[in-house]
Order: sequence, then structure tokens, then C-alpha cells
Amino acid sequence: MFFLLPSSLSFLSALLLLQSPHAVTSYKSLSESFLRAIPSPGSDIDPLTGPLLAPILIPRVPGTPGQTKVQHHFVNLFRSELPNWSIEWQNSTARTPISGGAELPFANLIFRREPPWVKPGQANLLTLVAHYDSKYQPEGFVGATDSAAPCAMLLHVARVVDKHVQRMYDEMQELGEGGSVEMDMGIQILLLDGEEAFEKWTEDDSLYGSRALAQQWSLSPNPPSAKFYKYRTPMSQISLFLLLDLLGSPSPHVPSYFPTTHWAYQHLSTIESRMRALQLLESSPSTPFLPDMDRTTGAHAAISDDHLPFMGGGVEVLHVIPHPFPDVWHSMEDDGQHLDMPTVRDWSKIVAAFALEWLDMMEKIAKWIKAMISLKQTEMSIEIEWMPESYRMD
Ligand SMILES: [Zn+2]
Repeated sequence: MFFLLPSSLSFLSALLLLQSPHAVTSYKSLSESFLRAIPSPGSDIDPLTGPLLAPILIPRVPGTPGQTKVQHHFVNLFRSELPNWSIEWQNSTARTPISGGAELPFANLIFRREPPWVKPGQANLLTLVAHYDSKYQPEGFVGATDSAAPCAMLLHVARVVDKHVQRMYDEMQELGEGGSVEMDMGIQILLLDGEEAFEKWTEDDSLYGSRALAQQWSLSPNPPSAKFYKYRTPMSQISLFLLLDLLGSPSPHVPSYFPTTHWAYQHLSTIESRMRALQLLESSPSTPFLPDMDRTTGAHAAISDDHLPFMGGGVEVLHVIPHPFPDVWHSMEDDGQHLDMPTVRDWSKIVAAFALEWLDMMEKIAKWIKAMISLKQTEMSIEIEWMPESYRMD
């Protein structure tokens, strides 16, 4: 028999090692100067006039004109400012307790930035997620923390990441880099529809968008390819599902919910503490936003949210949601006026830094500089004047 027990076990553990997120991300912390260069969204995330947030602060219930307006806002922003991101719609319909037997439309939006050399299904994707729909009741509810502000934070993250990866991908391609697991990292932003219950939260009346997307991504195989068939479905391409929800109130307390992603939580928390130590954040809460470095706060109760259908499909989840929920939760006071803007801007910077660190920016820069130097030695002239100060190692 070919697979004797011990060898099949070691084969299995080797496979598990290969598939662990640790193997995918050889983590190198961002340098101090890189952290300093992470921009704040500033007035762009102002609730009244900011082009990232203000257009989202309207009622946007599935099947209403507000839903369409907000979808157009997202698509227009990527089309006009971030043309290298692919835009994908994932549509579904469902009956709800208030739709009188009619099917309501739900549309998830997927914005993706992959290395240009990857084939479909080849890249592993850091997946940043927030829901954009708002609650049916109370009428006029705009859900600023739930989750207009998290959506706007992710738009800021897309801008920051794009600025850094674009030239990097291009240069790596010129150098013939890529094609290895570490190099084939991309990022996708999921803006999900239909998270809220229409009547009362049940398994059927909630998570309409995430359930439809998780089902589609589990069931549709990636195209086979002779060399790259590591990720069988879009679901398996998700290296980490980082879900933002209920963010924007002052002094949030976000515990580490899942032991298997506690290491990623620690990286996020470390970014917060490094940025605070460097006085790069505006808020001054009595405890950090992410205080659970040792996973000892005890607030680890599972919370029902958009991660559940993906977790059911085996995806690793980092849930960034405060416990307890903000005071304004599901009330009319969850509006632009009640957002704590220093907190909103700080979250935007922390998540942007995390994404850049995850995409292994420091490692890629080091490799790229090394390759540049060896090319220079063979007297090939390559222009590197675009490299900003912030890329230099400390
Ligand atoms: Zn809600």
C-alpha cells in the first residue's frame, strides 16, 4: 500500500503547512518612514462634504433608489480614480418578509487589484469587506457606523494601496518576478448588499448578499491551468477575510474573536500601537482600539455577520467589530453627526497600513532594489527616480 499511515500523516501535515496563511505571507513589518507616509483621508471622509463618505450617508435599502445611487458612487469612484481595479457585480434576488412575495434585488460589488501577470484563479487575495445596505427600519436610517463609514474607509484603503502597488507590479513584471505564491498577492474589496434583516434577524432574514456570494464562490470552479491549479474556487483564493463593521464611534473596543487568526489580529494591533507611539493617529482613547494582544479580554462571543457564510466555506476571518456595539447601534442617531471623525480617520490609516504590510510591500521593495542593483551592475540603465523617500528602509 502506497500511503502507510505515518507517511500519509506527514504528507497531510506538509499540506497543512503549505496552506497556512503564515506560509503565504512572509511577514515583514513596514518601516517607520513607510508608516509615516500612510496618508489620512482628511476631509475626503467628511460626513457632509467628503467625496468618499457623504454620498453613502443616505438610506440605501435593497430595491430602493438609494441602493442604486450608492452603487453608482462606488463604481464611479473606481472607474474614474482606480482604473486598474476590476469591477464585478454579483447579483441575486430573494423574497424578504416585507416584499409581499416579490423578489428583491441584491448586488454585491467586487473591486479587485491583482498582479498583471496572474491568470484567473492564480492570485491569493487579501479580502477587505463591509456591507453597504442600510436597515429598512427605522425609516430614514442611514447607518453611519453600520456600515457607511467602514465602506468609505475601504475606499480610502483602495486609493492608498493602488498608489503603491501599481508601479511595483509593473516593475516586478519587467524583471520577470511573479509566478510564485508569495509574489502572486492581490487585494479585493467586497462591498456587500443585504446584510441587514428586514424584520427580525433570522438565518433567512439577514446576510442576503454574503450568502449568495459565498455560495457562488464555493460552487464555481476556477479555470484549470496546467501550472496553476492551487485555488480550485474563488472562495479558496481568499487569504484572509477582514470584515469591518460598526466602526466610527469613539473609543471602540475590538476583541480578537478567532484563535486561528489571532496572529493577524496581533499584526493589526501592533500597527495601531506603532502608529500611536509615532503620534500618527489623532484619537486618544483610554485603551487602544485593538487591546486584545493576549486574547484575554474574554469577549469572544460569536457575532452573526457577513463572515459566517464564508467561514462555513473554510475561509479565515479577522472580524473587526467592537464589543460592545456602539451606543447608537440600530438607532436614528447612527448618523454622520454622531461619528467620531478622528476615530474614523485613524481606522482608515490603520487598515491601509495593514493592507500594505500584508501585501508584503517591504519584502517586495527589498527584492526589487536588489534586482535593480544587479541590473545596474550589468550596465542596464533603469530609471528609479519614482521611488519615494518612504520606501527606504530604516
Ligand atoms: Zn446593522
